[in-house]
Amino acid sequence: MEGSTPETSAPLAVETDPYAMALKQFDQAAARLELSPGMRGILRSCKRELIVHFPVRMDDGSLRTFSGYRVQHNVTRGPSKGGLRYHPQVTLDEVRALAMWMTWKCAVVNIPFGGAKGGVVCNPKEMSETELEGLTRRYTTEITPLLGPASDIPAPDVYTDDRIMAWMMDTYSMHVGYTVPAVVTGKPLSIGGSKGRLEATGRGCVMVIKEAAEHFGVRLEGATVVIQGFGNAGSITAKYLDEAGAKIIAVSDSRGAIHNPNGIDVANAMTHKSKTGSVVGLAGAGAIPPADLLELDCDILVPAALEAQIVAENAPRIKARIIAEAANGPTTPAADAILQERGAVVLPDILANVGGVVCSYFEWVQCLQKFSWSEHQVGDSLASFMSRAFHDVYSLAQQRRVDMRTAALMLSISRVADATAARGIYP
Ligand code: NAD
Repeated sequence: MEGSTPETSAPLAVETDPYAMALKQFDQAAARLELSPGMRGILRSCKRELIVHFPVRMDDGSLRTFSGYRVQHNVTRGPSKGGLRYHPQVTLDEVRALAMWMTWKCAVVNIPFGGAKGGVVCNPKEMSETELEGLTRRYTTEITPLLGPASDIPAPDVYTDDRIMAWMMDTYSMHVGYTVPAVVTGKPLSIGGSKGRLEATGRGCVMVIKEAAEHFGVRLEGATVVIQGFGNAGSITAKYLDEAGAKIIAVSDSRGAIHNPNGIDVANAMTHKSKTGSVVGLAGAGAIPPADLLELDCDILVPAALEAQIVAENAPRIKARIIAEAANGPTTPAADAILQERGAVVLPDILANVGGVVCSYFEWVQCLQKFSWSEHQVGDSLASFMSRAFHDVYSLAQQRRVDMRTAALMLSISRVADATAARGIYP
């Protein structure tokens, strides 16, 4: 039996380290809220951090050891909720940041969850279906002490999907001896998934963009749009913006970027990506360097890939009037300051991409109630949650004369602080 060292990835530079970014954002909002040092100490710490190293048998019979994380940032307002990411560059700090952002997201939209996130350092593109299943089942087993419909509920994130959620649900159910659909969300419909969950992140993002366009005086009909990342969040955002009359002029994925100033046919791009694995090579669109994509002349820019894409170096060249963060943490605090200075409207991740967790909440509720909502009911409820969250954040931004990110963070952090104060400190 041969061994291997667990694969972990190196920490990132300070400006682009997601956890340093999340803490800086927190500190700025906490200072405006004048939170006490004691409360700041509670809210800026992750409650539980589990690191696991585990073997998986590969198709060639060899054993490989993988490293994974599950971090619960805060559970004051309810069980922790947050996705699971499979990526070669996952780090503990990244998972901590994503868990913290989940806490603020659930609070900004006022659903009864805390925040968590999981990650496994792996390259799913180089693994077979059997290897991915083995990895998922063993990782689920390793983090089982944290999981449960009343304690911690995973969902899909980068390079994980409904198939992976089905294996997680099955593994957990096998351990406890009965079927527990509410332990994960983003599952297939056949085992208790919710109608509308697949589209919810992109659909919610477009609902927020529509509100912002109206309030900040941008005409959506004919507006030019650039989208970085063409997975679940990016492609569905593209689809709904296209339906709203906007013109998608450039999109990208991990393999490259394409551009057509006259507009990209979104349906064709989706089909091309599902057939070939990439948007690159789509007929009628030219290839451009991926770094140039963010700097294209456009009305709306949607980063929908990974963290720290808009940084101090490229921020001065970003021309979009609205930046809608479908991705988590795409803008570093230094870049944020540059964009605000220029008067760009940044719709922060914890508001712009919250549609996914809202629909996950609906899915969890349906599983607990053993009841299924119609597509119509999901869509209407999502619209009302998104609209209320936008207006809560927008009003606070106007009232306190702050940008939308600061307002969203102030709103969510104050909700978690109030809940903490109401519960008191145990023992
Ligand atoms: P996904 O795996 O479905 O898609 C990721 C996409 O990003 C792929 O098209 C991939 O090729 C592309 N990509 C990866 N690296 C890239 C790079 N360097 N440049 C350009 N494109 C790149 O993942 P997803 O679920 O769409 O997640 C994307 C972002 O949205 C992440 O930040 C995630 O945390 C966030 N998010 C997702 C959800 C959800 O419900 N899926 C909810 C909230 C936030």
